[in-house]
Amino acid sequence: MDNFAERLQLVRSQIRHAVGIAGRPKGCVQLLAVSKTKPAGDIAELYRLGQRHFAENYLQEALQKQRQLAAFNITWHFIGPIQSNKTKPIACHFDWVHSVDRLKVAQRLSEQRPAQLPPLNICLQVNISEEASKSGVDLAELPQLIEAVSRLPRLRLRGVMAIPEPEASYSKQRQPYRCLYQAVRELNRPELDSFSFGMSGDLKAAIMEGSTMVRIGTALFGERH
Ligand SMILES: *Cc1c(COP(=O)(O)O)cnc(C)c1O
Repeated sequence: MDNFAERLQLVRSQIRHAVGIAGRPKGCVQLLAVSKTKPAGDIAELYRLGQRHFAENYLQEALQKQRQLAAFNITWHFIGPIQSNKTKPIACHFDWVHSVDRLKVAQRLSEQRPAQLPPLNICLQVNISEEASKSGVDLAELPQLIEAVSRLPRLRLRGVMAIPEPEASYSKQRQPYRCLYQAVRELNRPELDSFSFGMSGDLKAAIMEGSTMVRIGTALFGERH
């Protein structure tokens, strides 16, 4: 298990397996490779194996790798905390942002999205573990934020992202995802088609509860140091 081809195969087969058990359509879950702290060379290796979607948490680190990999046709996702004074490079250099949790940040991303690029795909990060310190909008305030963000002209609001508290038990892993999925479904907005749920440790639970994008770091790249 020390090469990228084997790890990628394994993760892909875990996704296929979970999709099958969930009775969901083939190909309904996209794999995002979370490459934070990993060198551009690792991204290039996975790219050669067919991986196209990569996700980064830290802006400066991401921009540097994007420069190194400018010749590659990568779809870049930003998944880290966003300071409102750092929105411009995010608006210019990413295709998706999963970690928007307040209107001010969304407004700035919309204003700063370059006119020649398509609207920026957005997922709103929701705090479903009720921990005061965590980022993410509270579930109670989500409908209001969706209303406001969906009016911004240079954004395309696609769905929600969640990072629940780690749980060892499979049934406990599923519960917060189910709750958020239901809450979004009840809003009756078919344009919200994206559920950024699941990491290396809870991929199966997330797919059972409606994930359309799993964000996988460790299982693809190995441990981060
Ligand atoms: C690091 C990170 C991941 C990937 O986590 P792994 O457990 O390494 O798969 C996914 N999502 C976010 C927001 C992250 O910060």
